[in-house]
Amino acid sequence: MTFTAQILTLYPEMFPGPLGTSLAGRALAERKWACDTINPREFATDKHRSVDDTPAGGGAGMVLRADIMAAAVDHAVERMAEQVRSSRAQSRDGLAGNDVSTSLDTNGEEPLAAVSGEPVEPRLSDGRRPSTSSGLTDLPLTAPILAMTPRGKPLTQARVREIAAGPGVTIICGRFEGFDERLFDARDIEQVSIGDYILSGGEMGALVLLDACIRLLPGVMGASSSGDDESFENVILEYPQYTRPQIWEGRIIPEVLRSGDHAKIAAWRKQRAEEDTRLRRPDLWERHRDAPDQSPSGAQEKDKDKE
Ligand code: SAM
Repeated sequence: MTFTAQILTLYPEMFPGPLGTSLAGRALAERKWACDTINPREFATDKHRSVDDTPAGGGAGMVLRADIMAAAVDHAVERMAEQVRSSRAQSRDGLAGNDVSTSLDTNGEEPLAAVSGEPVEPRLSDGRRPSTSSGLTDLPLTAPILAMTPRGKPLTQARVREIAAGPGVTIICGRFEGFDERLFDARDIEQVSIGDYILSGGEMGALVLLDACIRLLPGVMGASSSGDDESFENVILEYPQYTRPQIWEGRIIPEVLRSGDHAKIAAWRKQRAEEDTRLRRPDLWERHRDAPDQSPSGAQEKDKDKE
């Protein structure tokens, strides 16, 4: 199934932008994801195609109108639902024919397996197979609608994983002073922030979110890198990395990493990941300490700590 990204933006030319190159660009060419833009100006009702107006109560700048943005959102919802329905119908037909590799949504184009040369099977982004024999039809019917706003909930790797496991996402990019709040009262929209700083528009945030999702899509990173060890996957930061040359400006790669002893290397990495997290991100460290650990090795470690 092709992961569909719909972006509501006044600057459609910003997409796919940097996501047209490297890993995401290749995945786009291979139709592992699709990028559609919708310009809210198309839903404006005056001859100037205005989407904004002055803030109620006064103050600087302009605010995106709820009525215009809602019309664009409603259009996006309909379009996404249609795409998901047709993907699911294609999945059902393909699975009924017992040919999983050609059952994925390809928008009427060549199947992915033929394009990428890789076998494609119905997998959630965390590597799990869908839970029943009906396969892809178990995937969620709806894609979330996100609005980029500094007033939103901070984006996390866990939320990125959930989004990447679904059929796609609609992202609304703000500009000016942001959105008329009534948009969020009237529509089911998740408000998302990418950090405690102010961008000039939501487009960069949308690119960040999409990049984080796309690398998790099946077949995008390849077998060599599952991403399981990355920072935030297990709450804490990743251990530090080194590569050749062995000595650079008098600094030598830690001896343990040159030892070839895999058990020792794993222990060193775990210890450094924990130490660095404790020092650099006490907030993550606290969460890690409080979270019930599901990994067998982690559980043992915690038990040991308690003794
Ligand atoms: N007046 C708004 C405020 O103080 O909360 C800031 C508006 S900002 C100049 C314009 C747009 O950039 C926002 O509507 C939002 O779409 C986007 N934006 C800015 N900072 C962001 C952040 N940290 N996370 C997500 N989106 C952001």
